[in-house]
Amino acid sequence: MKYLALLFSVFLCLFGCAKRDVPSPSSSYFEDNGKVKVLSTTTMIDDLVAHIGGEFVDHIALVTRDLDPHSYELVKGDDEKIGFAQIAIGNGLHLEHGASLRYQLENHPHAVFLGEEIQKRVPSQIITVDGQLDPHVWMDISLWAEGIDAIVTALSAIDPEHALHYQRNGDDLRQAMLLTHRQIQQEFKGIGSSNRYLVTSHDAFHYFARAYLSEEEDWEKRCVAPEGLAPDGQLSTQDIQRVVDHLSEYQIGVVFPESNVNRDALKKIISSCKHSVQICDRPLYGDAMGDSQSGADSYLAMIQHNAKVLKEEWQKQSKLNH
Ligand SMILES: [Zn+2]
Repeated sequence: MKYLALLFSVFLCLFGCAKRDVPSPSSSYFEDNGKVKVLSTTTMIDDLVAHIGGEFVDHIALVTRDLDPHSYELVKGDDEKIGFAQIAIGNGLHLEHGASLRYQLENHPHAVFLGEEIQKRVPSQIITVDGQLDPHVWMDISLWAEGIDAIVTALSAIDPEHALHYQRNGDDLRQAMLLTHRQIQQEFKGIGSSNRYLVTSHDAFHYFARAYLSEEEDWEKRCVAPEGLAPDGQLSTQDIQRVVDHLSEYQIGVVFPESNVNRDALKKIISSCKHSVQICDRPLYGDAMGDSQSGADSYLAMIQHNAKVLKEEWQKQSKLNH
């Protein structure tokens, strides 16, 4: 009899627990409502999850508002959020280099690193800067759309019943993203090539420059920033001088702050320039989406906002120069 009971409990565990090998999905951050629980590190990932998961998924982003995903370390409550999520999605490509966050992601039973999934599909599209992978893949909408299938696959593995729903939502999202991608490319064609030089706070815009600002494979000179791939504030006088020289060489009249990066470096730079350079009064969104007042509170709205601000400022500059 004991033997039968043991056999029965093994059977239950093998088949009853097969769907969920992570803790029961109910916590102060996630309601116990049967929906798939997904935690994403950034709001740009979370927005894709929201579109693909629709009504069958509860989703939260870990790094919100103006916090920096490069250096983010876990705070009180984060362990619980990650622990209760059935799927944890990070960007990878060394974006999340805070040790506590990286450890939790790497040890999650259902972790997905979206940037690395994109890298597997289109390795030649991943930019390296001084031997380091550039993690800012979301800045090119067509490249970010390459991550959709990985999210569809992860959701369908946990919740096969709604796999078709995830697939359809993913297909719709891809179409909307590629349409916006082409629209932005078209919009920049109206701006003279001599105006399309982007100077920002840190190196978050290489993918953007390659996708939207460059027509002759010259994107590397189309975007320059004093801070490297992560805005760590460790600036040398050479970093400042390099940007000052670039502004002078291409006679650039406006630089663009980023919503979550200190403006001190840009202020130093413009005060060292011999010609007149302004700091744009509207920030760009590099590593974080904006709030509901910003007009940049969804992934596509964020990229559209950046494109709009750049276009308007460069048009103003072009008029000043004529
Ligand atoms: Zn960044």
